[in-house]
Amino acid sequence: MSNFEVDKHKRIYEILSVVKLSSLLFSSIAFLKSYFNNNKSMVESIQSYYSYLSYVILVMVLSLIYIIWIFATVKKNNLKYNMHIQVVENIVFITIFCAAILISGGYESSYKFLFLFIIITTTIQAGMKQGLVVAVISSVIILTIDIVGIQGVEVNKYFEDDLILAGVFILTAWPLGFYVKMESEHIKELQRLVNQDGLTGVYNHRFFHDVLREKVTSYEKENMPISMIFIDIDYFKHYNDLYGHQKGDVVLKGIGTILKNSVKEDDIVARYGGEEFSIILPNTLEKDAISIAESIRRKIEKTYFEGEENQPNGKITVSMGVSIYPDKAKSDVELIKSADDALYRAKFFNKNRVECYTSILDELKNDIEERHIDLVTSIKTLISVINAKDRYTYGHVERVVIYSKMLANKLGLDEEDKKKLIYGAYMHDIGKINIPKEVLNKRMALTSEEWEMLKGHPLNGVEIIKPVESLKDISPLILHHHERYDGKGYPSNLKGEQIPFLARVLTVVDSFDAMTSNRPYNKRKTYDEAIDELKRCSGTQFDPVITRAFIDVILENNCNVGYEPSLDLKSS
Ligand code: GH3
Ligand code: MG
Ligand code: MG
Repeated sequence: MSNFEVDKHKRIYEILSVVKLSSLLFSSIAFLKSYFNNNKSMVESIQSYYSYLSYVILVMVLSLIYIIWIFATVKKNNLKYNMHIQVVENIVFITIFCAAILISGGYESSYKFLFLFIIITTTIQAGMKQGLVVAVISSVIILTIDIVGIQGVEVNKYFEDDLILAGVFILTAWPLGFYVKMESEHIKELQRLVNQDGLTGVYNHRFFHDVLREKVTSYEKENMPISMIFIDIDYFKHYNDLYGHQKGDVVLKGIGTILKNSVKEDDIVARYGGEEFSIILPNTLEKDAISIAESIRRKIEKTYFEGEENQPNGKITVSMGVSIYPDKAKSDVELIKSADDALYRAKFFNKNRVECYTSILDELKNDIEERHIDLVTSIKTLISVINAKDRYTYGHVERVVIYSKMLANKLGLDEEDKKKLIYGAYMHDIGKINIPKEVLNKRMALTSEEWEMLKGHPLNGVEIIKPVESLKDISPLILHHHERYDGKGYPSNLKGEQIPFLARVLTVVDSFDAMTSNRPYNKRKTYDEAIDELKRCSGTQFDPVITRAFIDVILENNCNVGYEPSLDLKSS
Protein backbone atom coordinates (compact mmCIF):
# COMPACT_ATOMS: atom_id res chain seq x y z
CA MET A 1 0.00 0.00 0.00
CA SER A 2 1.36 3.44 -0.90
CA ASN A 3 1.73 6.19 1.69
CA PHE A 4 -1.15 7.99 0.11
CA GLU A 5 -3.42 4.96 0.48
CA VAL A 6 -2.35 4.35 4.08
CA ASP A 7 -3.09 7.97 4.88
CA LYS A 8 -6.48 7.79 3.16
CA HIS A 9 -7.46 4.62 5.05
CA LYS A 10 -6.33 6.12 8.30
CA ARG A 11 -8.41 9.24 7.83
CA ILE A 12 -11.53 7.31 6.78
CA TYR A 13 -11.03 5.04 9.77
CA GLU A 14 -10.82 8.03 12.07
CA ILE A 15 -13.96 9.72 10.77
CA LEU A 16 -15.95 6.46 10.87
CA SER A 17 -14.81 5.88 14.45
CA VAL A 18 -16.19 9.29 15.37
CA VAL A 19 -19.52 8.38 13.71
CA LYS A 20 -19.67 5.07 15.59
CA LEU A 21 -18.89 6.71 18.89
CA SER A 22 -21.61 9.30 18.23
CA SER A 23 -24.10 6.52 17.63
CA LEU A 24 -23.17 5.03 21.01
CA LEU A 25 -23.72 8.43 22.61
CA PHE A 26 -27.15 8.69 20.98
CA SER A 27 -27.97 5.26 22.41
CA SER A 28 -26.93 6.39 25.88
CA ILE A 29 -29.24 9.43 25.53
CA ALA A 30 -32.09 6.98 24.89
CA PHE A 31 -31.18 5.09 28.07
CA LEU A 32 -30.90 8.26 30.17
CA LYS A 33 -34.10 9.77 28.79
CA SER A 34 -36.05 6.68 29.54
CA TYR A 35 -34.58 6.60 33.06
CA PHE A 36 -35.61 10.22 33.78
CA ASN A 37 -39.07 9.68 32.31
CA ASN A 38 -39.58 6.86 34.72
CA ASN A 39 -38.41 9.15 37.55
CA LYS A 40 -41.04 11.71 36.62
CA SER A 41 -43.86 9.21 36.65
CA MET A 42 -42.79 8.34 40.18
CA VAL A 43 -42.24 4.70 39.52
CA GLU A 44 -38.87 5.11 41.02
CA SER A 45 -37.77 2.17 42.95
CA ILE A 46 -34.30 1.26 44.01
CA GLN A 47 -34.46 -1.70 41.63
CA SER A 48 -35.32 0.35 38.51
CA TYR A 49 -32.68 2.95 39.45
CA TYR A 50 -29.99 0.32 39.45
CA SER A 51 -31.23 -1.32 36.30
CA TYR A 52 -31.09 1.97 34.33
CA LEU A 53 -27.81 2.98 35.84
CA SER A 54 -26.38 -0.35 34.80
CA TYR A 55 -27.52 0.30 31.22
CA VAL A 56 -25.73 3.64 31.22
CA ILE A 57 -22.59 2.10 32.67
CA LEU A 58 -22.81 -0.68 30.11
CA VAL A 59 -22.92 1.83 27.24
CA MET A 60 -20.01 3.78 28.71
CA VAL A 61 -17.93 0.67 29.21
CA LEU A 62 -18.69 -0.45 25.67
CA SER A 63 -17.65 2.98 24.38
CA LEU A 64 -14.40 2.69 26.27
CA ILE A 65 -13.75 -0.80 24.96
CA TYR A 66 -14.47 0.47 21.49
CA ILE A 67 -11.95 3.31 21.79
CA ILE A 68 -9.24 1.00 23.12
CA TRP A 69 -9.99 -1.55 20.45
CA ILE A 70 -9.79 1.05 17.64
CA PHE A 71 -6.25 1.91 18.62
CA ALA A 72 -5.25 -1.72 19.06
CA THR A 73 -6.57 -2.78 15.64
CA VAL A 74 -5.08 0.22 13.84
CA LYS A 75 -1.64 -1.00 14.86
CA LYS A 76 -2.19 -4.71 14.57
CA ASN A 77 -3.81 -4.76 11.15
CA ASN A 78 -1.79 -1.99 9.71
CA LEU A 79 -5.02 -0.19 8.86
CA LYS A 80 -6.19 -2.98 6.65
CA TYR A 81 -9.82 -3.61 7.15
CA ASN A 82 -10.59 -6.83 8.95
CA MET A 83 -13.76 -8.62 7.99
CA HIS A 84 -14.15 -10.60 11.22
CA ILE A 85 -13.78 -7.55 13.40
CA GLN A 86 -16.43 -5.79 11.31
CA VAL A 87 -18.92 -8.65 11.88
CA VAL A 88 -18.33 -8.73 15.64
CA GLU A 89 -18.52 -4.95 15.77
CA ASN A 90 -21.86 -4.91 13.92
CA ILE A 91 -23.36 -7.57 16.21
CA VAL A 92 -22.35 -5.50 19.27
CA PHE A 93 -23.77 -2.30 17.78
CA ILE A 94 -27.04 -3.92 16.69
CA THR A 95 -27.47 -5.37 20.21
CA ILE A 96 -26.93 -1.95 21.81
CA PHE A 97 -29.31 -0.27 19.37
CA CYS A 98 -31.99 -2.93 19.98
CA ALA A 99 -31.64 -2.38 23.74
CA ALA A 100 -31.87 1.40 23.28
CA ILE A 101 -35.01 1.07 21.14
CA LEU A 102 -36.66 -1.39 23.53
CA ILE A 103 -35.87 0.73 26.57
CA SER A 104 -37.11 3.92 24.92
CA GLY A 105 -40.54 2.64 24.00
CA GLY A 106 -40.08 -0.37 21.69
CA TYR A 107 -42.29 0.08 18.63
CA GLU A 108 -43.00 3.67 19.77
CA SER A 109 -39.31 4.54 20.10
CA SER A 110 -37.96 7.45 18.10
CA TYR A 111 -34.48 5.90 18.17
CA LYS A 112 -34.94 3.48 15.31
CA PHE A 113 -32.85 5.77 13.14
CA LEU A 114 -29.76 4.61 15.10
CA PHE A 115 -29.34 1.75 12.63
CA LEU A 116 -28.52 4.32 9.95
CA PHE A 117 -25.14 4.92 11.57
CA ILE A 118 -24.06 1.33 11.29
CA ILE A 119 -25.48 1.02 7.76
CA ILE A 120 -23.44 4.05 6.60
CA THR A 121 -20.20 3.03 8.30
CA THR A 122 -20.42 -0.58 7.09
CA THR A 123 -21.14 0.49 3.51
CA ILE A 124 -18.19 2.88 3.43
CA GLN A 125 -15.81 0.40 5.05
CA ALA A 126 -16.87 -2.91 3.54
CA GLY A 127 -18.85 -2.02 0.40
CA MET A 128 -22.37 -2.22 -0.97
CA LYS A 129 -23.01 -5.92 -0.32
CA GLN A 130 -22.24 -5.81 3.39
CA GLY A 131 -24.04 -2.46 3.72
CA LEU A 132 -27.19 -3.95 2.19
CA VAL A 133 -26.99 -6.98 4.50
CA VAL A 134 -26.86 -4.70 7.55
CA ALA A 135 -29.72 -2.56 6.12
CA VAL A 136 -31.93 -5.65 5.61
CA ILE A 137 -31.16 -6.99 9.12
CA SER A 138 -31.93 -3.56 10.63
CA SER A 139 -35.21 -3.37 8.69
CA VAL A 140 -36.24 -6.84 9.83
CA ILE A 141 -35.47 -5.93 13.46
CA ILE A 142 -37.55 -2.74 13.51
CA LEU A 143 -40.45 -4.37 11.68
CA THR A 144 -40.34 -7.39 14.02
CA ILE A 145 -40.46 -5.06 17.05
CA ASP A 146 -43.57 -3.46 15.52
CA ILE A 147 -45.29 -6.79 14.83
CA VAL A 148 -44.42 -8.35 18.18
CA GLY A 149 -45.21 -5.12 20.11
CA ILE A 150 -48.66 -4.52 18.58
CA GLN A 151 -50.71 -7.62 18.07
CA GLY A 152 -54.35 -8.01 17.18
CA VAL A 153 -54.66 -4.54 15.67
CA GLU A 154 -56.15 -4.31 12.21
CA VAL A 155 -53.98 -1.46 10.94
CA ASN A 156 -50.51 -1.45 12.44
CA LYS A 157 -49.59 2.25 12.00
CA TYR A 158 -46.06 1.82 13.33
CA PHE A 159 -45.41 -1.03 10.94
CA GLU A 160 -46.52 1.15 8.03
CA ASP A 161 -44.25 4.02 9.08
CA ASP A 162 -41.33 1.69 9.67
CA LEU A 163 -41.75 0.21 6.22
CA ILE A 164 -40.73 3.66 4.97
CA LEU A 165 -37.80 3.69 7.40
CA ALA A 166 -36.72 0.26 6.11
CA GLY A 167 -36.85 1.74 2.60
CA VAL A 168 -34.62 4.58 3.80
CA PHE A 169 -32.14 2.03 5.22
CA ILE A 170 -31.93 0.18 1.92
CA LEU A 171 -31.83 3.38 -0.12
CA THR A 172 -28.95 4.61 2.01
CA ALA A 173 -26.87 1.45 1.63
CA TRP A 174 -27.51 1.00 -2.08
CA PRO A 175 -26.47 4.37 -3.64
CA LEU A 176 -23.77 4.94 -1.05
CA GLY A 177 -22.37 1.47 -1.74
CA PHE A 178 -22.60 2.13 -5.45
CA TYR A 179 -20.69 5.38 -5.03
CA VAL A 180 -17.98 3.69 -2.93
CA LYS A 181 -17.65 0.94 -5.56
CA MET A 182 -17.45 3.42 -8.44
CA GLU A 183 -14.89 5.48 -6.61
CA SER A 184 -12.64 2.55 -5.83
CA GLU A 185 -12.87 1.34 -9.44
CA HIS A 186 -12.03 4.83 -10.63
CA ILE A 187 -9.04 5.01 -8.32
CA LYS A 188 -7.87 1.60 -9.54
CA GLU A 189 -8.13 2.76 -13.15
CA LEU A 190 -6.22 5.96 -12.39
CA GLN A 191 -3.55 3.95 -10.58
CA ARG A 192 -3.24 1.66 -13.56
CA LEU A 193 -2.84 4.64 -15.88
CA VAL A 194 -0.31 6.29 -13.61
CA ASN A 195 1.77 3.12 -13.36
CA GLN A 196 1.55 2.01 -16.97
CA ASP A 197 3.68 2.91 -19.94
CA GLY A 198 1.37 4.50 -22.51
CA LEU A 199 2.97 2.89 -25.57
CA THR A 200 3.70 -0.68 -24.58
CA GLY A 201 1.18 -1.36 -21.80
CA VAL A 202 3.84 -2.65 -19.41
CA TYR A 203 4.64 -0.81 -16.17
CA ASN A 204 6.59 2.43 -16.31
CA HIS A 205 9.96 3.44 -14.93
CA ARG A 206 8.56 5.08 -11.78
CA PHE A 207 6.45 2.08 -10.81
CA PHE A 208 9.40 -0.22 -11.47
CA HIS A 209 11.48 1.69 -8.92
CA ASP A 210 8.63 1.76 -6.39
CA VAL A 211 8.11 -2.00 -6.60
CA LEU A 212 11.82 -2.76 -6.49
CA ARG A 213 12.30 -0.65 -3.37
CA GLU A 214 9.32 -2.32 -1.75
CA LYS A 215 10.58 -5.83 -2.63
CA VAL A 216 14.08 -5.12 -1.38
CA THR A 217 12.65 -3.77 1.87
CA SER A 218 10.40 -6.79 2.34
CA TYR A 219 13.38 -9.10 1.80
CA GLU A 220 14.23 -8.51 5.47
CA LYS A 221 10.94 -10.17 6.44
CA GLU A 222 10.41 -12.76 3.75
CA ASN A 223 13.98 -13.66 2.89
CA MET A 224 13.13 -14.26 -0.76
CA PRO A 225 15.71 -13.51 -3.47
CA ILE A 226 14.85 -11.05 -6.23
CA SER A 227 16.13 -11.65 -9.75
CA MET A 228 16.28 -8.96 -12.39
CA ILE A 229 16.47 -9.08 -16.18
CA PHE A 230 17.53 -6.06 -18.23
CA ILE A 231 16.61 -6.07 -21.91
CA ASP A 232 17.81 -3.85 -24.76
CA ILE A 233 16.72 -4.18 -28.39
CA ASP A 234 19.66 -4.75 -30.74
CA TYR A 235 20.37 -2.23 -33.51
CA PHE A 236 17.14 -0.44 -32.79
CA LYS A 237 18.45 2.90 -33.96
CA HIS A 238 19.12 1.23 -37.30
CA TYR A 239 15.48 0.03 -37.48
CA ASN A 240 14.14 3.51 -36.62
CA ASP A 241 16.42 5.11 -39.17
CA LEU A 242 15.19 2.71 -41.86
CA TYR A 243 11.44 2.72 -41.17
CA GLY A 244 10.75 5.69 -38.90
CA HIS A 245 9.78 5.92 -35.27
CA GLN A 246 6.16 4.85 -35.78
CA LYS A 247 7.21 1.46 -37.14
CA GLY A 248 9.73 1.35 -34.31
CA ASP A 249 6.93 1.90 -31.84
CA VAL A 250 5.06 -1.11 -33.25
CA VAL A 251 8.13 -3.26 -32.52
CA LEU A 252 8.32 -1.84 -28.99
CA LYS A 253 4.65 -2.73 -28.44
CA GLY A 254 5.19 -6.24 -29.78
CA ILE A 255 8.15 -6.84 -27.53
CA GLY A 256 6.23 -5.44 -24.53
CA THR A 257 3.46 -7.98 -25.22
CA ILE A 258 5.89 -10.90 -25.58
CA LEU A 259 7.53 -9.94 -22.27
CA LYS A 260 4.21 -9.67 -20.43
CA ASN A 261 3.09 -13.03 -21.75
CA SER A 262 6.35 -14.74 -20.82
CA VAL A 263 6.44 -14.11 -17.07
CA LYS A 264 4.45 -15.09 -13.99
CA GLU A 265 1.71 -12.89 -12.56
CA ASP A 266 3.88 -11.68 -9.69
CA ASP A 267 6.71 -10.60 -11.99
CA ILE A 268 6.91 -6.93 -12.93
CA VAL A 269 7.67 -6.07 -16.55
CA ALA A 270 8.55 -2.41 -17.03
CA ARG A 271 9.79 -0.12 -19.76
CA TYR A 272 12.98 1.18 -18.23
CA GLY A 273 13.87 3.66 -20.93
CA GLY A 274 13.42 4.29 -24.67
CA GLU A 275 13.94 0.75 -25.96
CA GLU A 276 15.05 -0.85 -22.72
CA PHE A 277 12.84 -3.09 -20.62
CA SER A 278 13.39 -4.61 -17.23
CA ILE A 279 11.73 -7.43 -15.33
CA ILE A 280 11.63 -7.90 -11.56
CA LEU A 281 11.24 -11.56 -10.64
CA PRO A 282 10.48 -11.90 -6.93
CA ASN A 283 11.39 -15.17 -5.27
CA THR A 284 13.21 -16.46 -8.36
CA LEU A 285 16.65 -18.06 -8.38
CA GLU A 286 19.23 -16.76 -10.83
CA LYS A 287 19.31 -19.98 -12.83
CA ASP A 288 15.54 -19.80 -13.31
CA ALA A 289 15.76 -16.13 -14.29
CA ILE A 290 18.40 -17.06 -16.86
CA SER A 291 16.22 -19.75 -18.39
CA ILE A 292 13.22 -17.37 -18.50
CA ALA A 293 15.44 -14.77 -20.19
CA GLU A 294 16.71 -17.34 -22.65
CA SER A 295 13.18 -18.41 -23.60
CA ILE A 296 12.16 -14.76 -24.08
CA ARG A 297 15.22 -14.19 -26.24
CA ARG A 298 14.33 -17.18 -28.41
CA LYS A 299 10.69 -16.10 -28.66
CA ILE A 300 11.65 -12.61 -29.85
CA GLU A 301 14.16 -14.02 -32.29
CA LYS A 302 11.47 -16.28 -33.79
CA THR A 303 8.73 -13.62 -33.93
CA TYR A 304 8.49 -11.88 -37.28
CA PHE A 305 8.59 -8.08 -37.19
CA GLU A 306 7.92 -6.16 -40.39
CA GLY A 307 11.11 -5.27 -42.25
CA GLU A 308 13.42 -7.09 -39.84
CA GLU A 309 15.26 -8.71 -42.73
CA ASN A 310 17.08 -5.40 -43.29
CA GLN A 311 18.53 -5.32 -39.77
CA PRO A 312 22.32 -5.90 -39.57
CA ASN A 313 21.74 -9.42 -38.17
CA GLY A 314 18.68 -10.09 -40.34
CA LYS A 315 16.09 -10.02 -37.54
CA ILE A 316 14.88 -8.14 -34.49
CA THR A 317 16.71 -9.50 -31.46
CA VAL A 318 17.38 -8.45 -27.88
CA SER A 319 20.34 -8.65 -25.52
CA MET A 320 19.74 -9.40 -21.87
CA GLY A 321 21.54 -9.06 -18.55
CA VAL A 322 20.57 -11.00 -15.42
CA SER A 323 21.48 -10.37 -11.80
CA ILE A 324 20.15 -11.30 -8.37
CA TYR A 325 19.61 -9.67 -4.98
CA PRO A 326 21.11 -10.20 -2.43
CA ASP A 327 23.74 -12.63 -3.79
CA LYS A 328 25.23 -10.30 -6.38
CA ALA A 329 23.92 -6.91 -5.30
CA LYS A 330 23.40 -5.47 -1.86
CA SER A 331 20.79 -2.84 -2.71
CA ASP A 332 18.17 -1.97 -5.32
CA VAL A 333 20.61 0.44 -6.97
CA GLU A 334 23.32 -2.23 -7.15
CA LEU A 335 20.84 -4.75 -8.54
CA ILE A 336 19.97 -2.43 -11.43
CA LYS A 337 23.61 -1.61 -12.02
CA SER A 338 24.71 -5.23 -12.04
CA ALA A 339 21.92 -6.30 -14.44
CA ASP A 340 22.89 -3.37 -16.66
CA ASP A 341 26.55 -4.44 -16.53
CA ALA A 342 25.55 -7.96 -17.54
CA LEU A 343 23.54 -6.49 -20.42
CA TYR A 344 26.61 -4.58 -21.48
CA ARG A 345 28.52 -7.85 -21.64
CA ALA A 346 25.75 -9.43 -23.72
CA LYS A 347 26.00 -6.53 -26.18
CA PHE A 348 29.75 -6.93 -26.25
CA PHE A 349 29.56 -10.62 -27.16
CA ASN A 350 27.82 -9.95 -30.44
CA LYS A 351 24.34 -9.26 -28.98
CA ASN A 352 21.23 -11.49 -29.17
CA ARG A 353 22.29 -13.32 -26.00
CA VAL A 354 21.76 -13.59 -22.26
CA GLU A 355 24.59 -12.85 -19.84
CA CYS A 356 24.57 -13.00 -16.06
CA TYR A 357 26.46 -10.65 -13.82
CA THR A 358 29.86 -11.63 -12.45
CA SER A 359 31.76 -9.28 -10.25
CA ILE A 360 35.52 -9.31 -10.45
CA LEU A 361 35.59 -7.51 -7.13
CA ASP A 362 33.57 -10.24 -5.44
CA GLU A 363 35.92 -12.89 -6.83
CA LEU A 364 38.81 -10.77 -5.64
CA LYS A 365 37.32 -10.50 -2.18
CA ASN A 366 37.44 -14.28 -1.80
CA ASP A 367 41.20 -14.23 -2.34
CA ILE A 368 41.98 -11.32 -0.10
CA GLU A 369 42.53 -11.23 3.60
CA GLU A 370 39.63 -9.90 5.66
CA ARG A 371 41.50 -6.79 6.79
CA HIS A 372 42.09 -5.62 3.22
CA ILE A 373 38.52 -5.93 2.01
CA ASP A 374 37.82 -2.27 2.77
CA LEU A 375 40.80 -1.26 0.73
CA VAL A 376 39.66 -3.33 -2.20
CA THR A 377 36.24 -1.76 -1.93
CA SER A 378 37.82 1.66 -2.06
CA ILE A 379 39.80 0.56 -5.11
CA LYS A 380 36.45 -0.11 -6.75
CA THR A 381 35.33 3.39 -5.79
CA LEU A 382 38.53 4.78 -7.29
CA ILE A 383 37.80 2.95 -10.54
CA SER A 384 34.30 4.46 -10.64
CA VAL A 385 35.82 7.90 -10.07
CA ILE A 386 38.21 7.40 -12.97
CA ASN A 387 35.32 6.21 -15.13
CA ALA A 388 33.40 9.34 -14.30
CA LYS A 389 36.39 11.51 -15.20
CA ASP A 390 37.52 9.81 -18.35
CA ARG A 391 34.76 9.27 -20.90
CA TYR A 392 36.80 6.69 -22.72
CA THR A 393 37.20 4.38 -19.71
CA TYR A 394 33.42 3.82 -19.68
CA GLY A 395 33.41 0.15 -20.39
CA HIS A 396 37.12 0.05 -21.09
CA VAL A 397 38.00 -1.80 -17.89
CA GLU A 398 35.12 -4.19 -18.47
CA ARG A 399 36.22 -4.95 -22.02
CA VAL A 400 39.90 -5.35 -21.12
CA VAL A 401 38.87 -7.86 -18.44
CA ILE A 402 36.71 -9.80 -20.91
CA TYR A 403 39.49 -9.90 -23.53
CA SER A 404 42.01 -10.92 -20.86
CA LYS A 405 39.88 -13.86 -19.77
CA MET A 406 39.61 -15.09 -23.35
CA LEU A 407 43.28 -14.60 -24.06
CA ALA A 408 44.28 -16.32 -20.80
CA ASN A 409 42.38 -19.41 -21.96
CA LYS A 410 43.97 -19.25 -25.40
CA LEU A 411 47.47 -19.00 -23.91
CA GLY A 412 46.69 -21.87 -21.56
CA LEU A 413 47.62 -19.90 -18.44
CA ASP A 414 47.30 -21.69 -15.10
CA GLU A 415 44.63 -20.55 -12.63
CA GLU A 416 47.10 -18.46 -10.62
CA ASP A 417 48.32 -16.48 -13.65
CA LYS A 418 44.83 -16.17 -15.03
CA LYS A 419 43.67 -14.53 -11.83
CA LYS A 420 46.68 -12.23 -11.76
CA LEU A 421 45.99 -11.13 -15.32
CA ILE A 422 42.31 -10.48 -14.65
CA TYR A 423 42.98 -8.51 -11.46
CA GLY A 424 45.72 -6.59 -13.25
CA ALA A 425 43.33 -5.84 -16.11
CA TYR A 426 40.79 -4.63 -13.59
CA MET A 427 43.18 -2.26 -11.87
CA HIS A 428 45.62 -1.27 -14.59
CA ASP A 429 44.42 2.33 -14.92
CA ILE A 430 43.90 3.01 -11.24
CA GLY A 431 46.82 5.47 -11.17
CA LYS A 432 44.84 7.80 -13.43
CA ILE A 433 42.97 8.97 -10.35
CA ASN A 434 45.50 11.80 -9.88
CA ILE A 435 45.30 13.06 -13.45
CA PRO A 436 42.94 15.99 -14.05
CA LYS A 437 39.85 15.43 -16.16
CA GLU A 438 40.94 18.09 -18.66
CA VAL A 439 44.14 16.18 -19.41
CA LEU A 440 42.37 12.81 -19.71
CA ASN A 441 39.81 14.18 -22.16
CA LYS A 442 42.02 16.62 -24.05
CA ARG A 443 41.45 16.58 -27.79
CA MET A 444 44.66 18.35 -28.82
CA ALA A 445 48.18 17.04 -28.38
CA LEU A 446 49.35 17.01 -24.77
CA THR A 447 52.03 19.44 -23.61
CA SER A 448 55.22 17.78 -22.44
CA GLU A 449 54.22 18.50 -18.85
CA GLU A 450 50.82 16.85 -19.32
CA TRP A 451 52.45 13.94 -21.09
CA GLU A 452 54.77 13.40 -18.13
CA MET A 453 51.77 13.47 -15.83
CA LEU A 454 49.99 10.82 -17.91
CA LYS A 455 53.11 8.67 -18.03
CA GLY A 456 53.14 8.69 -14.22
CA HIS A 457 49.94 6.66 -13.93
CA PRO A 458 51.53 3.16 -13.82
CA LEU A 459 53.71 4.18 -10.87
CA ASN A 460 50.82 5.93 -9.12
CA GLY A 461 48.73 2.79 -9.54
CA VAL A 462 51.40 0.68 -7.86
CA GLU A 463 51.52 3.16 -4.95
CA ILE A 464 47.75 2.89 -4.48
CA ILE A 465 47.67 -0.90 -4.16
CA LYS A 466 50.94 -1.15 -2.20
CA PRO A 467 49.28 -1.46 1.24
CA VAL A 468 47.46 -4.63 0.13
CA GLU A 469 49.96 -7.40 0.61
CA SER A 470 47.93 -9.92 -1.42
CA LEU A 471 47.94 -7.61 -4.47
CA LYS A 472 51.74 -7.59 -4.49
CA ASP A 473 51.90 -9.87 -7.53
CA ILE A 474 49.64 -7.54 -9.51
CA SER A 475 52.05 -4.60 -9.20
CA PRO A 476 54.35 -5.59 -12.10
CA LEU A 477 51.36 -5.71 -14.44
CA ILE A 478 50.23 -2.24 -13.45
CA LEU A 479 53.74 -0.85 -13.53
CA HIS A 480 54.76 -2.25 -16.89
CA HIS A 481 51.61 -2.30 -19.02
CA HIS A 482 52.99 0.63 -21.07
CA GLU A 483 56.38 -0.91 -21.79
CA ARG A 484 57.15 -1.72 -25.43
CA TYR A 485 58.68 -4.94 -26.73
CA ASP A 486 61.46 -2.88 -28.40
CA GLY A 487 62.35 -1.10 -25.13
CA LYS A 488 60.86 2.28 -26.09
CA GLY A 489 58.01 2.23 -23.61
CA TYR A 490 57.65 3.61 -20.11
CA PRO A 491 58.30 3.83 -17.19
CA SER A 492 61.35 1.51 -17.13
CA ASN A 493 62.24 1.09 -20.83
CA LEU A 494 62.25 -2.68 -20.35
CA LYS A 495 62.77 -4.75 -23.47
CA GLY A 496 61.45 -8.10 -24.74
CA GLU A 497 61.54 -10.84 -22.13
CA GLN A 498 62.60 -8.32 -19.47
CA ILE A 499 58.98 -7.18 -19.40
CA PRO A 500 56.96 -9.52 -17.18
CA PHE A 501 54.96 -11.90 -19.37
CA LEU A 502 51.54 -10.97 -17.99
CA ALA A 503 52.33 -7.25 -18.45
CA ARG A 504 53.08 -7.99 -22.11
CA VAL A 505 49.72 -9.74 -22.40
CA LEU A 506 47.94 -6.80 -20.82
CA THR A 507 49.66 -4.35 -23.18
CA VAL A 508 48.25 -6.10 -26.25
CA VAL A 509 44.71 -6.26 -24.85
CA ASP A 510 44.75 -2.70 -23.51
CA SER A 511 46.08 -1.30 -26.78
CA PHE A 512 43.56 -3.18 -28.88
CA ASP A 513 40.66 -1.77 -26.87
CA ALA A 514 42.18 1.70 -27.06
CA MET A 515 42.37 1.42 -30.87
CA THR A 516 38.79 0.22 -31.22
CA SER A 517 37.29 2.80 -28.84
CA ASN A 518 36.58 6.43 -29.49
CA ARG A 519 39.47 8.26 -27.84
CA PRO A 520 39.49 12.01 -27.35
CA TYR A 521 42.49 12.37 -29.62
CA ASN A 522 41.92 9.53 -32.06
CA LYS A 523 39.10 8.19 -34.18
CA ARG A 524 38.28 4.57 -33.42
CA LYS A 525 39.52 1.89 -35.77
CA THR A 526 37.35 -0.90 -37.13
CA TYR A 527 38.20 -4.40 -35.98
CA ASP A 528 39.98 -5.19 -39.23
CA GLU A 529 41.99 -1.97 -39.03
CA ALA A 530 42.92 -2.69 -35.41
CA ILE A 531 44.02 -6.24 -36.30
CA ASP A 532 46.19 -4.83 -39.09
CA GLU A 533 47.66 -2.35 -36.63
CA LEU A 534 48.44 -5.16 -34.15
CA LYS A 535 50.20 -7.07 -36.94
CA ARG A 536 52.12 -3.96 -37.98
CA CYS A 537 53.37 -3.34 -34.45
CA SER A 538 54.04 -7.00 -33.62
CA GLY A 539 57.71 -7.36 -32.64
CA THR A 540 58.17 -3.61 -32.07
CA GLN A 541 55.47 -2.52 -29.67
CA PHE A 542 53.96 -5.94 -28.92
CA ASP A 543 55.19 -9.43 -28.13
CA PRO A 544 54.70 -11.31 -31.45
CA VAL A 545 53.57 -14.61 -29.88
CA ILE A 546 50.98 -12.94 -27.67
CA THR A 547 49.81 -10.74 -30.56
CA ARG A 548 49.25 -13.79 -32.78
CA ALA A 549 47.27 -15.54 -30.05
CA PHE A 550 45.14 -12.45 -29.43
CA ILE A 551 44.29 -11.96 -33.09
CA ASP A 552 43.14 -15.59 -33.15
CA VAL A 553 40.99 -14.97 -30.08
CA ILE A 554 39.30 -12.00 -31.72
CA LEU A 555 38.66 -13.82 -34.97
CA GLU A 556 37.46 -17.03 -33.30
CA ASN A 557 35.09 -15.37 -30.86
CA ASN A 558 33.70 -12.98 -33.42
CA CYS A 559 33.13 -10.69 -30.47
CA ASN A 560 32.01 -7.15 -30.74
CA VAL A 561 31.67 -7.22 -34.53
CA GLY A 562 30.03 -3.99 -35.63
CA TYR A 563 29.63 -2.87 -32.06
CA GLU A 564 29.98 0.81 -31.27
CA PRO A 565 30.98 1.09 -27.63
CA SER A 566 28.16 3.21 -26.30
CA LEU A 567 29.11 6.13 -24.11
CA ASP A 568 25.61 6.00 -22.66
CA LEU A 569 26.23 2.69 -20.99
CA LYS A 570 26.83 3.18 -17.34
CA SER A 571 29.52 0.59 -16.85
CA SER A 572 32.19 0.97 -14.23
P1 GH3 B 1 22.49 -1.64 -29.56
O1 GH3 B 1 22.32 -2.85 -30.39
O2 GH3 B 1 23.88 -1.44 -29.12
O3 GH3 B 1 21.50 -1.58 -28.44
O4 GH3 B 1 22.20 -0.44 -30.54
P2 GH3 B 1 20.92 0.45 -30.67
O5 GH3 B 1 20.85 1.01 -32.03
O6 GH3 B 1 19.71 -0.31 -30.21
O7 GH3 B 1 21.27 1.61 -29.67
P3 GH3 B 1 20.59 2.01 -28.32
O8 GH3 B 1 20.35 0.83 -27.46
O9 GH3 B 1 21.37 3.12 -27.77
O10 GH3 B 1 19.15 2.49 -28.83
C1 GH3 B 1 18.71 3.77 -28.78
C2 GH3 B 1 17.69 3.94 -29.88
O11 GH3 B 1 16.39 3.55 -29.46
C3 GH3 B 1 17.55 5.40 -30.22
C4 GH3 B 1 16.17 5.52 -30.71
O12 GH3 B 1 16.19 5.44 -32.12
C5 GH3 B 1 15.44 4.30 -30.18
N1 GH3 B 1 14.32 4.67 -29.29
C6 GH3 B 1 14.39 5.06 -28.02
N2 GH3 B 1 13.14 5.33 -27.55
C7 GH3 B 1 12.26 5.08 -28.54
C8 GH3 B 1 10.82 5.15 -28.67
O13 GH3 B 1 10.10 5.48 -27.74
N3 GH3 B 1 10.28 4.81 -29.86
C9 GH3 B 1 11.07 4.43 -30.91
N4 GH3 B 1 10.49 4.09 -32.05
N5 GH3 B 1 12.42 4.34 -30.82
C10 GH3 B 1 13.00 4.67 -29.66
MG1 MG C 1 19.44 1.26 -25.47
MG1 MG D 1 19.52 -1.04 -28.31
